[in-house]
Amino acid sequence: MFDYALIHYGEIALKGLNRPLYEKKLVENIEKALANQDYATIKKLQGRILLELNERSDVSKIEDALKKVLGISWFAFCYMTEADKESIQRCVDRNITFTKNEKIKVSTNRADKNIPFTSIDLNRELGTHLINTYGVKVSLKEPEKEIYIEIADGKAYIFTKKIRGLCGLPVGVSGNVLHLLSGGIDSPVAAWLLMKRGCKVDFLHFHAFQMFNERWNAKVLDLVKVLNKYSFGSRIFFVPFYPFEVAALQAPIRYRLILFRRFMVRVAEKLASKYGIVALGSGENLAQVSSQTLENLAVIEHASSLPILRPLLTYDKNEIVNIAKQIGTFEISVRPYKDCCSLFIAKHPVTKAKLEDVEAIEADLSLKDAVDSSVEKAEIIEVKEHI
Ligand code: ATP
Ligand code: MG
Repeated sequence: MFDYALIHYGEIALKGLNRPLYEKKLVENIEKALANQDYATIKKLQGRILLELNERSDVSKIEDALKKVLGISWFAFCYMTEADKESIQRCVDRNITFTKNEKIKVSTNRADKNIPFTSIDLNRELGTHLINTYGVKVSLKEPEKEIYIEIADGKAYIFTKKIRGLCGLPVGVSGNVLHLLSGGIDSPVAAWLLMKRGCKVDFLHFHAFQMFNERWNAKVLDLVKVLNKYSFGSRIFFVPFYPFEVAALQAPIRYRLILFRRFMVRVAEKLASKYGIVALGSGENLAQVSSQTLENLAVIEHASSLPILRPLLTYDKNEIVNIAKQIGTFEISVRPYKDCCSLFIAKHPVTKAKLEDVEAIEADLSLKDAVDSSVEKAEIIEVKEHI
């Protein structure tokens, strides 16, 4: 039975004043991720977090949960003993099995420098003991089993398997973003990347539904529930598409897409300032489709005074699809969906819009009222569950 899970985070990112905030958030997020799990305590050590298990702890469920916590670089289920050579040797003998001729390596890491022996001393002595007792061989280059010993705060933590975490930063350390979420593949991945840089993400979706109930069944809500696994709850603003549709009826069809993008960021900006959110997010990419040009992005940008974060700007589609599969949104994104703009928007929208042209078209439309009416009609749903 393991005594603890030893959790490491990306120390390079932890310069100066950010460190206590980062650690506090990470501990909070781990507690949320483990809300349904049994364990004894969670506490901070020198540069690590220590999760004390109990006899009811389900190690495989805890492993699954920790694998989803952003900010963890790796973790290990381990045995704990006193930080002296005899205790360490006894603990290894009691808990780890070896086979004859197995290639092994002992790797000691001393965070606690007050220990009266060096890492190299311990590696050599424990290695020699294992050779003499079990007939193992030492292979520093290609070991079949690595015995890790971490010494921190006067104790030794012993394990043989490091489990990779997602890395990144803990959700919540970088502020709040209102993210434009469609039912497609890209925008959920973009939201996840923002979470991975520590953002708390709320969502805004423009829908073409008439009935309230339909929203609840919408795939968009399922996407948010998957993303909640990483962010432990979020809000989604559902906003109807029709105020824009009505206002833009007189607009040239090739311009409707860019008008809609500008409309979306205007509504988003209003909602964001109402709720104290400081940036917008989108799944836009450079040149993935002919309308996603630098010129068009610049024209969209002009409609908002808030920064628009586009984490996928430089990604290839296959990279995006790979992340979507890894985080669990792909299967939902490919489900059929009643997209709000498919009928209303041209097959070949304008590719290099000019700001003057777009502003001249907008001057003839009552878009401001449409923005206000959409903001007024926004329905907010707190989504706590995850799937
Ligand atoms: P996605 O897979 O995210 O839909 P996409 O490559 O299909 O991306 P577009 O449909 O051109 O791109 O949309 C670009 C971005 O605009 C989306 O990534 C999303 O951020 C936003 N967006 C598009 N449609 C909506 C919508 N109905 N509600 C909210 N945001 C939207
Ligand atoms: Mg789309």
